[in-house]
Amino acid sequence: MEKYDLFVIGSGPAGQRAAIKGAKLGKRVAIVEKREVVGGACINTGTIPSKTLREAVLAYTSIAGQRDRLPWARLETRPSSQQLLAGVDHVVSREIEVIEHQLRRNDVTVLSGEAAFVDAHTLEIRAEQGTRRVTAANIVIAVGTVVSYKNQVFGYTRAERATQYEIVLVVKVVFRDTVKNRDVWKEDALTVRTTYNVAAVGSEPARTETEGRKEVVQKLADQVVSRTIQGW
Ligand SMILES: Cc1cc2nc3c(=O)[nH]c(=O)nc-3n(C[C@H](O)[C@H](O)[C@H](O)COP(=O)(O)OP(=O)(O)OC[C@H]3O[C@@H](n4cnc5c(N)ncnc54)[C@H](O)[C@@H]3O)c2cc1C
Repeated sequence: MEKYDLFVIGSGPAGQRAAIKGAKLGKRVAIVEKREVVGGACINTGTIPSKTLREAVLAYTSIAGQRDRLPWARLETRPSSQQLLAGVDHVVSREIEVIEHQLRRNDVTVLSGEAAFVDAHTLEIRAEQGTRRVTAANIVIAVGTVVSYKNQVFGYTRAERATQYEIVLVVKVVFRDTVKNRDVWKEDALTVRTTYNVAAVGSEPARTETEGRKEVVQKLADQVVSRTIQGW
């Protein structure tokens, strides 16, 4: 089993600093990251992507706003989202390289996988390539945070999922003779319903929301057409 003086879980800003500080103090240090690349939210999903995108937009608008003074810098078209995001990818990749280089230069061992505690000094690291165990005198938990999820509109938590839905359409229908200026057929609350399961239940197959919606609209159309004929 590999042994370290300091083992850091998570390669975001907190984990990187802890690992490098430990290495600079002469400790045998390793860091583990469960994502494909190091850097945490800061590099991959948060600070750097959002600020780079903002800077790219600001750089464009500051030039575009000075057409008269800087005709040579005039941009004929708006940059596409693809162009802006390509700029973000470029900066993110460069930042990942900087961090990898920094960790290598300081002799920090970088492991890939998801770490879980076996006991106070032992970790199991699960990766696609297999599972390994490491021990360390000190372990820093720098795993970042997870957004507390509460769907404000529908009131579900992340763990909750409805399994069966009912769609109810209530519509007012007026079928009017415009020559005689009178209603031939009228219904104030024509109601149609469809129930569907999002996972198969017994012999009832699973259906998607789109399928459920299409069905209820089709039912409504059938109702309107059949009643119209009756009305005539
Ligand atoms: C959209 C957005 C914009 C932001 N903008 C700014 C800004 O402008 N300025 C600023 O100061 N901050 C900003 N932040 C906040 C900043 O990104 C975070 O404060 C910072 O990344 C936290 O660092 P961390 O090391 O604590 O955690 P993280 O960066 O979240 O890193 C934790 C790492 O641990 C890994 N991990 C978790 N569990 C395990 C495990 N069991 N095994 C192995 N690895 C694991 C994760 O994959 C992750 O890579 C922003 C955040 C977001 C989301």
